[in-house]
Amino acid sequence: MQTFVTREEIFIWREQQQAEQKQIGFVPTMGALHQGHLSLVEQACQENDVVVVSIFVNPKQFNQSADLQAYPRMLSADLALLEHLPNLVIFAPNESEMYPADLPFEPMPLGKIGQLLEGAHRPGHFEGVVHVVHHLFALVQPHTAYFGQKDFQQLAIIRLLNQYYGFGIDIIGCETIRESDGLAMSSRNLRLTHEQRQSAVSISKALALVKNNIGQDPIENVKQAARNIIEQAGLEIDYLEIVDPITLENCTEWQQIQVCCVAAFCGEVRLIDNVLCESVL
Ligand code: AMP
Repeated sequence: MQTFVTREEIFIWREQQQAEQKQIGFVPTMGALHQGHLSLVEQACQENDVVVVSIFVNPKQFNQSADLQAYPRMLSADLALLEHLPNLVIFAPNESEMYPADLPFEPMPLGKIGQLLEGAHRPGHFEGVVHVVHHLFALVQPHTAYFGQKDFQQLAIIRLLNQYYGFGIDIIGCETIRESDGLAMSSRNLRLTHEQRQSAVSISKALALVKNNIGQDPIENVKQAARNIIEQAGLEIDYLEIVDPITLENCTEWQQIQVCCVAAFCGEVRLIDNVLCESVL
């Protein structure tokens, strides 16, 4: 497995792959890899000739410097986890390689979808995501790129970005991988104390309640019951909304398909999760 740290190395490698007509898959990550990331990488390995995994903690997408500082970094452990996979290369640049001063970037308008949910609660976050993914897509020029549905809104924005800049990449949304008790896997879970880890499961319990009650009680009552589960476990909710899966705007009535999206603080650690719910109307 080759590990590249400069743009030039990955550029030369990519030109070689293109000359050999290899299909390139791409999985962008911020490292501290877990089974959720691995599921994306494994799928990418099955569906492409070669796969690039990027590992870069992107400062531009953190709206709080304490969160950026506390974000786990463990490159050697990450590389060890990926070692067994065939036809994989790693791109692990530092900040000046990722953002050379002379590299042009024209931000895209995020529109309404960028202002809701995470956009409303983490100003600048999606602008930072778009910036880094734009540079990575332009450099790696993959045929396919894999993103988790755990970051539901991010996935929607990546699809917009792909269209807006005309990358023409096949964007693949992958299911959320969970711990055995239901907690969505996240690099941030590493920061939870034992007690916080026990309370954090309330998020997936609340989502299960929503899923089991769609189309039954009024939507506001179901949201309130879900919020109660999380608050009773001692977490502080940033938002819990039931929204349209395309526009991400709040649903006032049950629809055929909706998604419940939640963000909550477990101590200092901000966790997000969602569940897609289909009603039989
Ligand atoms: P991150 O390192 O948190 O930026 O995540 C890198 C990619 O892995 C993103 O596309 C995430 O949506 C995805 N991802 C993170 N956690 C999970 C999970 N539990 N299941 C599936 N995909 C995930």
